Amino acid sequence: MPRRTRARLRRLWRSGLVAALTMVVAAVFASPSAAANRQADHPSPDWTPPTQYAQGLDEVWRHMESTYGNLLGFRNYGWDQLMANGGRLQYCVRWESNTPVTTQMRDQINASIQRQWSKWFEGLRGWGNFPYASVPVQVVGWAARDRSLLQWNDNSVDLYIGNLDGAGAPRCAPACDRFYHQDGNYSQCPGGAARHFDQSLWLTDGFGGGAGGDWGQRMGREYYMGAVNQDNIHILLHEMGHTLGLDDFYDWTPTGVSNFLMRAGSATQITEFDRWMSRDFWRHLRSRYGL
Ligand SMILES: [Zn+2]
Repeated sequence: MPRRTRARLRRLWRSGLVAALTMVVAAVFASPSAAANRQADHPSPDWTPPTQYAQGLDEVWRHMESTYGNLLGFRNYGWDQLMANGGRLQYCVRWESNTPVTTQMRDQINASIQRQWSKWFEGLRGWGNFPYASVPVQVVGWAARDRSLLQWNDNSVDLYIGNLDGAGAPRCAPACDRFYHQDGNYSQCPGGAARHFDQSLWLTDGFGGGAGGDWGQRMGREYYMGAVNQDNIHILLHEMGHTLGLDDFYDWTPTGVSNFLMRAGSATQITEFDRWMSRDFWRHLRSRYGL
């Protein structure tokens, strides 16, 4: 991916962080002693990564701590969404295109998101008190410019037609969007909490590369529909990594590894190193869920 796109990814992710930080109390994470404790806990009984990854993983965590001052104060990682729902994730698809969507395409998209999230979460199964053996993913809403683009008549998903964001892109109702309702109050969502969505899969004609964050993932519509039946949709997998809190590696490489998914362009599927980074993130967050 070109650097311009990469810089954009980082910005988008950070803007998501910043937007959601306004309610967080700074004192919780500003304590130097807390930071010292986090660094000291790496050699611990619950942390036994393979020897060849141990140093690199430690570097990754310290790098994120120094890059993101609120790393452990942020409360809308994909992990938080998952736990708030009791082990499920719900989606809105933002169809920023004038290409019609058949029922088959709709169902392929739901299956593709499920398949990619399962690849991340299977690395957590049975590990570090992660409480779910599998994570169901359901698309509950679709947004499009015009009803005629969505070629089904059943009511299996909520439709949001002509609801555009400030830049003119179709979106599902903000009242149903966790990004705006992290307190879990979906009382203004037409379908209530059961039809809220945690993330958006935003598919845009002509969009290069990808973007990801707590709000979801965005990719080119052409890329996505060309890859929708692939086992590994690698840009989506990478952007989902950002939803889990994982960082980019544009300007440095951890000791002992060279090719892995979160180092964009160097791998097309989740590697063991990516898996261990996700486990490291989970083990640092799990105490907030009492696990
Ligand atoms: Zn990235």
